[in-house]
Amino acid sequence: MEDSFLYKGQRQRLAQLIENKGISDTRIVRAIEKIPRHFFMENFLQHNAYKDQAQPIGSGQTISQPYTVAFQTELLGVEAGDKILEIGTGSGYQTAVLLELGAKVYTIERHRALYQAAHLLLQKLNYYPHFFLGDGYNGLPNYGPFDKILITAGAPYIPKPLIEQLKIGGIMVLPVGNVHTQKMISIVKTGEEEFEQTEFGDFLFVPMLKGVV
Ligand code: SAH
Repeated sequence: MEDSFLYKGQRQRLAQLIENKGISDTRIVRAIEKIPRHFFMENFLQHNAYKDQAQPIGSGQTISQPYTVAFQTELLGVEAGDKILEIGTGSGYQTAVLLELGAKVYTIERHRALYQAAHLLLQKLNYYPHFFLGDGYNGLPNYGPFDKILITAGAPYIPKPLIEQLKIGGIMVLPVGNVHTQKMISIVKTGEEEFEQTEFGDFLFVPMLKGVV
């Protein structure tokens, strides 16, 4: 695992691109400039790491497009010390971005192989979230409530247990839709049974599926 001047330069240009696309939180832009995204990808694809594109990570899954990672992170309004539940660890890249912002991260993945790989990699890079192999539809009832919840897979509907595990005043960000397209949604829990929902543009994620594999 090596960084290089070439990749550092590409990473700076990617961070600039993300800023130009409208991400105004400089902490997020700096995190993208800092985190070596190529480490989160397979060797033969690493030359694509600093394109603003999703890329395959094995098990039929993808590492999200950097702009999408930044957009979801900005919608979450992460503050240092926030307790965040992330559904879909995948490569662990989004997890690293949240940790760079000073959050305490609880991350769930349903694919054993990805869960193991992300665990090893993040440890090597000195990132320490709480890892769980499990089905994110259930959330983590024993660890909640959370300040923020982030789903990084396309959900067919808003999972009720997750809303229940959100603190009042908390924010949940998720893409909701079918396998072909999803709308980005941000939900603020304003009371025990009250929510404010805002819809953003169209996105495409791999689907949120049930069970552990
Ligand atoms: N944030 C990740 C995105 C990975 S893609 C990254 O940037 O690398 C979405 C991930 O969600 C996949 O790894 C997929 O296996 C996982 N996933 C899908 N449904 C899930 C569920 N019900 N529980 C936990 N993880 C799930």
